[in-house]
Amino acid sequence: MIKYVMSLMNGARLAVSAQALGIAQAAYEEAVKYANEREQFGQAIVHFPAVFQMLKKMQVEIETARMLLYRTALYVDYEDMYERKAGKGENVKAELKYATAMAGFLTPLAKFTITEMANKVAYDAVQIHGGCGYMKDFPVERLARDARITNIYEGTTQLQVVAAIGGVTTNVLEKEWATLQNLEVKELAGEKEIILGYVEQLQQTVSDVLELKNKDFHDFVANYLVEIASIIYRCALFLPVAEAHEEKRELFHYYLNESATRIDYLIKEIRSLKDHYGESIVDLKADFVIK
Ligand SMILES: Cc1cc2nc3c(=O)[nH]c(=O)nc-3n(C[C@H](O)[C@H](O)[C@H](O)COP(=O)(O)OP(=O)(O)OC[C@H]3O[C@@H](n4cnc5c(N)ncnc54)[C@H](O)[C@@H]3O)c2cc1C
Repeated sequence: MIKYVMSLMNGARLAVSAQALGIAQAAYEEAVKYANEREQFGQAIVHFPAVFQMLKKMQVEIETARMLLYRTALYVDYEDMYERKAGKGENVKAELKYATAMAGFLTPLAKFTITEMANKVAYDAVQIHGGCGYMKDFPVERLARDARITNIYEGTTQLQVVAAIGGVTTNVLEKEWATLQNLEVKELAGEKEIILGYVEQLQQTVSDVLELKNKDFHDFVANYLVEIASIIYRCALFLPVAEAHEEKRELFHYYLNESATRIDYLIKEIRSLKDHYGESIVDLKADFVIK
């Protein structure tokens, strides 16, 4: 029964991730359209770096979120396929075990990543519309409201972290990293090494956190670890696409560059929290607990 309910929930979580991606895509398209139509100070606002920076971030986040969604759906389909084969008496025990582990990990990882991304994209799409974005006359107002529920229903973002963190600390992605290691790339060989370097940094940070053997600290930084894993996995998914399609390389390099800064920030944050608070992280709740 529990297995059945969990599988129903995971199915719904994947659907909500797809819903969030669609909302983000629509918000992005509305923002591009409006940025080209709206003129301020004698030019369309799309020409202001502050505006096209927001559009660039939207574009790359949507692109990598889509890769994560499709890969998650692939493992969910594999799990379904191997279950059917096993039902027919075929010996696919190892394949089914792997597909189940990957689907179980990637589903909350995708919901965590994509629904938060959709909120940020919809927020910035409203921002690009200025005051008009707040009014019901423009579709982004509705898109921003619709995005807001996606990281709440079918399990909040915090619950997705609870579901995904075990996969990060037990290195469920080990085989995927090995696939990356063995991937033959010519044009982007240096970039592959950079991504493998991120994997090492993640593993080191996970052992630093586990070494403390403190549940409060572990739970406090769990969302940072899950975010790092999500970023690196999307880099790994993007690499073969960018290797095969030259027109995708500029976007890939933009993402890799953004990833470096974000991963570096998150790892420094975890280390600094460990150094400053460690086990006493639990004391941080003192100001909020009403006696
Ligand atoms: C429009 C809409 C449609 C809905 N449709 C359905 C539906 O069809 N079927 C259905 O079953 N439900 C539905 N829901 C309910 C929805 O799934 C829940 O609102 C959602 O899962 C969050 O639960 P909650 O509201 O009880 O929040 P709570 O669980 O009370 O969470 C409150 C806060 O505490 C945090 N929190 C709670 N537990 C933990 C934890 N263990 N670790 C860390 N943080 C935690 C949460 O992240 C959140 O920030 C719907 C809700 C809405 C608004």
